[in-house]
Amino acid sequence: MTCKAMPATIKENLIKVTNPATGEEIFTAKATSETEIKEIIQRAKESFLLWSSMTVDKRIDYLKKIYELIIKDKDKIAEIITKNTGKPLSESYLTEIASCLQIMEYFIKKGHELLNEKSISLGKLYPTKKSFLSYEPYGVMAIIEPWNYPFYLPMSAITKTLLAGNTFIFKPSSKVSLVGKLIYEILLEAALPQGVANIVYGGSEAAEVLISSGIDKVIFTGSVEIGKKIAESCAKKLLPVSLELGGKDPAIVFKNTNLDYACEGVLWGAISNCGQACASIERVYVESEIYNDFIDKITSLVKELKIGNGIDDEIDVGPLIDKEQVEKIEEHIKDALNKGARLHTGGKRIPGSGFFFEPTVLSNVNHSMKIMTEETFGPVIPIMKFESIEEAIRLANDTRYGLASSIWTGETGNVKNIANKLNCGTVWVNDSLFLQAHPACPWQGYKDSGYGGSAIYDFVRTKHISIDLGFIPKLHPKSFWWYPYKGKARSYSDLIGIVFKSSIKEKTKAAFHTMINFLK
Ligand code: NAD
Repeated sequence: MTCKAMPATIKENLIKVTNPATGEEIFTAKATSETEIKEIIQRAKESFLLWSSMTVDKRIDYLKKIYELIIKDKDKIAEIITKNTGKPLSESYLTEIASCLQIMEYFIKKGHELLNEKSISLGKLYPTKKSFLSYEPYGVMAIIEPWNYPFYLPMSAITKTLLAGNTFIFKPSSKVSLVGKLIYEILLEAALPQGVANIVYGGSEAAEVLISSGIDKVIFTGSVEIGKKIAESCAKKLLPVSLELGGKDPAIVFKNTNLDYACEGVLWGAISNCGQACASIERVYVESEIYNDFIDKITSLVKELKIGNGIDDEIDVGPLIDKEQVEKIEEHIKDALNKGARLHTGGKRIPGSGFFFEPTVLSNVNHSMKIMTEETFGPVIPIMKFESIEEAIRLANDTRYGLASSIWTGETGNVKNIANKLNCGTVWVNDSLFLQAHPACPWQGYKDSGYGGSAIYDFVRTKHISIDLGFIPKLHPKSFWWYPYKGKARSYSDLIGIVFKSSIKEKTKAAFHTMINFLK
């Protein structure tokens, strides 16, 4: 295999983007300079005043325009996503466009309710007081995104950013600059006020300038390695940051499952997007009684997959994004085979001008191997045997990641007990991957998989206002806890008995004591 071209190279400030299925050059962008980035931030700051003072309804009107434009241009969008990433056309429609529209529709319908002021009763000690929560935008957001879902992920962050009243600067991964440009064009067509929506092109340098030039919050999706660097830079400035990072998601397959169903489901969870999803199934633990049958079945399913240029609707699996991905997967497989893994199918790159790799099944793997411990991000299904529920849970949790897990079982009655013991943010039972995109469900990692990011409340600051609604000037007695303290300690001791004792009998006893003390 030649692997001649990278999907994006940055030379003399030009980002050249190629189609990973063909190696053909499809787009050139000019990397945004440091001076330009700073000017863009300044414009975003100026337009923040206008955008944040608009009503939520008015901002929702703009979201509706964007939503309609995406529906109108869905075929063109799907084609561009497939050309830039290599993913099959079906996945461009479903996991990028439909997921994006689902998010937008949800926030168009619910945005008002979610961002409406909320009131809180403060309980028995403060009967006349009431608290109110309101939501304020941060200001200018830096939205830094990866290449693997280049339409859905940025659009999800952009929707919430705009709804909340922030302006933003979006930096797509240089590898998917073409999809980044497409998003920017849609936003331009929606005629958002000038300076509200901005894009910068470039790699790590552009992102670093962005973070260090006076923005108000970073929304980052990407690898653990870069996420940690960003967290460090943000910590130095106490800059708020949301980090949606990588995963090494386990699938646990119990012997009472429907074998055909579990194999088909694990196959899709592991191989869709050519295994390049943060929540791809990257480790499979199968109960010993069905271990051999599971391997045979999934191996035969893998052999039926059609690999090729995703623009052809017959194709199931497209190429990897670039040569580096190919090399990383080769390294993981080699390491596993050297340590005793058994190869059932695949294992090699496919010769030609794209970055194609054979979907691979490995067994006899263990946790000394990279394939079971580091994010592989490729079409590989490593399978390991387990003997008991406890062992399956221990193996699934034996990782620095904590994004999601899946359980495949015929017995769902007790499955929540197992799910609760898995150390990760999402557990799917008899499915995988699909709810990452559902706006009503949180999406957040434990451990190295990051923190924050998916909820609308990550895009706003919460303001608390507390008001004494019983306040009447002149008549109002001062709060009982104000100075002077003289002689109040005993009354407070009695008060605690009256207010916080649980039974009526005990409360009455405490009230009686208070009265006696008072009379004394
Ligand atoms: P990456 O971390 O290499 O890059 C992500 C973004 O950060 C890109 O825009 C990149 O240009 C920028 N960047 C690179 N170096 C930087 C630096 N020093 N400072 C600031 N920004 C920098 O990730 P990737 O390879 O583009 O994407 C794949 C990773 O993203 C995988 O680990 C995957 O699991 C993760 N991911 C996570 C989620 C999630 O929801 N948790 C979703 C999608 C992808």
